[in-house]
Amino acid sequence: MTRNKVLSARGLVKHFKMGEVSVKALDGVDFDIYEGEFIVILGPSGSGKSTLLNMIGGMDTLDAGALLFRDKPVHEMDKKGLALYRRDAVGFVFQFYNLIPSLNAFENVALAAQISSRGLDVEKTLAEVGLSERMDHFPSQLSGGQQQRVAMARAIAKNPDILLCDEPTGALDSESSERVMQLLKTINRTYDKTVIVITHDTDIATVADRVFHINDGRLTDIECNG
Ligand code: ADP
Ligand code: MG
Repeated sequence: MTRNKVLSARGLVKHFKMGEVSVKALDGVDFDIYEGEFIVILGPSGSGKSTLLNMIGGMDTLDAGALLFRDKPVHEMDKKGLALYRRDAVGFVFQFYNLIPSLNAFENVALAAQISSRGLDVEKTLAEVGLSERMDHFPSQLSGGQQQRVAMARAIAKNPDILLCDEPTGALDSESSERVMQLLKTINRTYDKTVIVITHDTDIATVADRVFHINDGRLTDIECNG
């Protein structure tokens, strides 16, 4: 079976200047990611994981290199192009959920669905993550694991091509982490969506089709599972 490339990166470089010192957060990163793959990017704290995910998500700009989304050059997009790319192509899940406290679960998800040009049904999406009974609850009335599932529903409801997750289980106990990872796998399989999860937790990497190991801003190894 031949699969289409959804992302292609060549020689990604990113520096951060902090006064006199310059940190090389990405030091020549190359990869190809295919439609429907489940990728885990694994590496220690400070290795460049979030920087890489922010580049893939069109939230920051590169110093050098090429990043293609379905053959469209993300590295050449202007502000407007990047805004459209973020709106339509990518959905984000963060470690600390980032839900709006004054909106209930339904409203948090509805907001994202409305921003997208092809948003999904909000109730159905919340049912998908097991929260049909919790739609009118505010974030403060939900557990960490439930809040993360709202955040996942919010990302899915945009109906993006790629789901980007930055340490999505970082604030969760092991049982909630397991549930979140299984849900991500289900989303990946059900909707055939490309999922990219970054983590420093080796246990989490087991659900991936491929694991990208990152160290000091470089991909040191790509490991295939199954
Ligand atoms: P990880 O997510 O793997 O912990 P990051 O991508 O956040 O790593 O960071 C990689 C390196 O870049 C670190 O040395 C970090 O301190 C630095 N860095 C990341 N973002 C910034 C920033 N906005 N300003 C300055 N330095 C940064
Ligand atoms: Mg990080």
